[in-house]
This record gives sequence, structure tokens and C-alpha cells, in this order.
Amino acid sequence: MAKVESFDLDHTRVRAPYVRIAGLKRTPRGDAITKYDLRLVQPNQDAIAPAALHTLEHLLAGYLRDHLEDVLDVSPMGCRTGMYMAVVAEPDAERVKTAFENALRQVAGHDQPIPGVSELECGNYRDHDLEEARRRARVALDAGLIVQDTITLQR
Ligand SMILES: [Zn+2]
Repeated sequence: MAKVESFDLDHTRVRAPYVRIAGLKRTPRGDAITKYDLRLVQPNQDAIAPAALHTLEHLLAGYLRDHLEDVLDVSPMGCRTGMYMAVVAEPDAERVKTAFENALRQVAGHDQPIPGVSELECGNYRDHDLEEARRRARVALDAGLIVQDTITLQR
């Protein structure tokens, strides 16, 4: 099986919420694509309920793109502790942290309908929780985001 970067991260030695550079790929033409962890809650101590995580996905899809150019993808982590984000080029982690904070502020204050929530636009449109998504954003902001270095598992 191919080696996966995130399985080498020591999940017991990180401090959420945080932004971490999780990977960098160069395309054959030399463009960079950078992957970030946007971790919202502490691994193995907390997890975001699926409906709220789904709502965070819908809201951050738009709000992160308001603050960062060339976002390819923002997707929930299967462990439900945060999101992955892939971006063209190499914005530094401090800049991504600021963008994430600004996006979370917008999520915390979001008082409009959730974008993309209909049977036509979403694969599980009934499964959303705006109130809990807003609360999770507020709790993360109150805790204070950091830039997390990669702490590699020693095996
Ligand atoms: Zn959806």
C-alpha cells in the first residue's frame, strides 16, 4: 500500500485547533499544490457530530475561498476532527491560519440559509446543523488557533 503522510503524524502530540502544512506536490509542469490540515478539535478527545461537520463543509467551501485564492478542495476528515484543504501554490501556514480564522468568524456569524442545501445540490441535504456548526466555529476561535508543526511518529 502507498505511504500516507497523515499516518506518520503523532496525533497525541498536537494541540488543536490548528493549521498544519500536511503535504506538497509538484505537478509535472512545476506548479505546487499544498495540502493543509485545518484541525478544529483535539484528536481522540472530541469529534464534531456529522450534521455539524457537513454544515461546516458547506460554509467553509465558500468562506475560505473568500480569503484564499485557488482553493481546490475543502473536505471533512473522516475522524470528524477537522477539514483537509488543498490549494494551488504555497501560501504559508500563518496566512492560511488568518484565512481560516476569518472564515470561522463568518461561520460563527452565519445567519442566512446554508448554501447548497437542497436535494439538487447536496448528497444528504437533510443532514445539517447550523447552530452546532456556528458553536464549533466560536469555540475554536475562543481557544485560539496555532500553526502546528508536524511531529512525526517515532516507530
Ligand atoms: Zn452537502
